[in-house]
Amino acid sequence: MVVVLMGPPGAGKGTQAVRLAERLGLAHVASGDLFREAIAAGTSLGRQAKGYMDRGELVPDDIVVRMILERIGRPDCAAGVVLDGFPRTEAQAEALDRALVAQGKQVNAALELDVPEAVVLERLTRRRICRNCQAPYHMEYSPPAQEGVCDRCGGDLYQREDDGEATVRHRLQVYAEQTAPLLSCYRQRSILRRVSGTGEMDEVAERLVRALGRGAA
Ligand code: AMP
Repeated sequence: MVVVLMGPPGAGKGTQAVRLAERLGLAHVASGDLFREAIAAGTSLGRQAKGYMDRGELVPDDIVVRMILERIGRPDCAAGVVLDGFPRTEAQAEALDRALVAQGKQVNAALELDVPEAVVLERLTRRRICRNCQAPYHMEYSPPAQEGVCDRCGGDLYQREDDGEATVRHRLQVYAEQTAPLLSCYRQRSILRRVSGTGEMDEVAERLVRALGRGAA
């Protein structure tokens, strides 16, 4: 099963994709995480992506597509995958479809996390991320037990370069212009489900599972 999780930056895709993948027994593949890992490891992929990311722009399609197709071709994705942050353009969606068809697969569901812009701005500008395991925190709603230290692994918490207010606004504009049009493609195929992304994390997780036609486990 291939599930695409969509929604603007700050909709909670990262948090919810991890949970959804666990719940469904699927792999979780997040394009942004893969880029951040490449940057931390100092690879050429990381060097190519960094400038675009810091400016809140999309990394060129050919780079993203190559990286994601290689990742979803690995054995842990054989049973299926929750894609988080990919595809983000029509060209990426087409490349994904072609690669899946070649394996006798398809995108089975696209879930759109719907969150008002004011909420997204507040979430992102106060977000901190673990440099080591990428766990997200919010300075007010889900702060770590010890300031600046990850509860999960003890890693350093930092503010992403692209979580400053001006860059967040730019990322929202990029989403509206380049990614939102994909929603209508998935709607036309009758595989799009829109889910409210506000409220408690557990509630949102439950809504996503229900939107896939699966009940409480
Ligand atoms: P995210 O962690 O999903 O918010 O992604 C962070 C940044 O990584 C984005 O603002 C883009 O610069 C880049 N990125 C992640 N996924 C993609 C994608 N599918 N296409 C292009 N750029 C991407």
